[in-house]
Amino acid sequence: MRKKIMIRGTPVGGGEPVVVQSMCNTKTADVDATVAQIRRLERAGCEIVRFAVPDIESAEAIGDIKARTKLPLVADIHFDHRLAIAAIEKGIDKLRINPGNIGGQLKVRELARAAKEAGVPIRIGVNAGSLEKALLKRYGGPTAEALAESALSHAALLEAEGFEDIVLSIKASDVRTMVEANRALAERCDYPLHIGVTEAGSGIDCEVKSAVGIGTLLMEGIGDTIRVSMTGDPVREVRAAWRILNASGVRRRGIELISCPTCARTGGDMVKIAAEIKRRLPKTNQTLKVAIMGCAVNGPGEAREADVGVAFGPTKCVLFSHGKVIASVPHDKAADALLEQIRLRLT
Ligand code: SF4
Repeated sequence: MRKKIMIRGTPVGGGEPVVVQSMCNTKTADVDATVAQIRRLERAGCEIVRFAVPDIESAEAIGDIKARTKLPLVADIHFDHRLAIAAIEKGIDKLRINPGNIGGQLKVRELARAAKEAGVPIRIGVNAGSLEKALLKRYGGPTAEALAESALSHAALLEAEGFEDIVLSIKASDVRTMVEANRALAERCDYPLHIGVTEAGSGIDCEVKSAVGIGTLLMEGIGDTIRVSMTGDPVREVRAAWRILNASGVRRRGIELISCPTCARTGGDMVKIAAEIKRRLPKTNQTLKVAIMGCAVNGPGEAREADVGVAFGPTKCVLFSHGKVIASVPHDKAADALLEQIRLRLT
């Protein structure tokens, strides 16, 4: 069992549900813009939010931001330990640093002491793009072993100061490297792990890369928090993260739609009707499994297994609810009938 770390009341690790994170891309010092984005992220299902603190104005904004949201806040800081200490003073809930670039052992010690006193956990984030030169030389590149060693040696810097309120993360844009590095880390320590494929690009390319990397690890029981790193609006990261959690069965939220690819057996214009149903689905965080199937081969079976479902026949559709046939409707009434059943299931 991994250690449990509390971040503003949200548990990470210790067998608790995997937590969805994202990162603001507003200027942190612009409090209104940052808070507005945090609220959008929260509505989409984000549970911990990080923002960069590249200067003292950003650190000074933390108190105002924190007063306007209940989400746990993480300050992402590089190079200057004074910014990390300022963030602690302003009430940050967690720091994300890389002890290797924060200015040497004395500064790490000072920071560990301040974080310990304030009860602020630290995530050590190791990235393949910024691995130490000595490790790159020894391993011949940013290999999985080199990344795991870097993360553990950074954790040791904090442990030497008696600080163990640690979350570890190793990220790489190469999916296989990221997966293997996290497997190595999971074997060699009991700190909670934050996982993600970094710099994964945008849109569907990012979602596929992230699903393969994060999904593989989640299915092996590795990963306590996740972030999809997507170029663009971070709300899309959160939606993608939930799709990965849903697909891997690790957590469920919202409506899961099961529909067949269609073929020569498909009764009626199922593609068009399925698209209409998808477009008109109510927005909800409740879990519900909905099946839309094209014929009598797999249709009744899938529709029966879902909470509600519809199986298309040559002239009519059969409607299912909790495994039972409840009606037979013409094709052009299938969308309305199924959506009505979905609404009845949602409270
Ligand atoms: Fe074809 Fe029926 Fe399978 Fe859909 S469920 S792909 S229509 S065989």
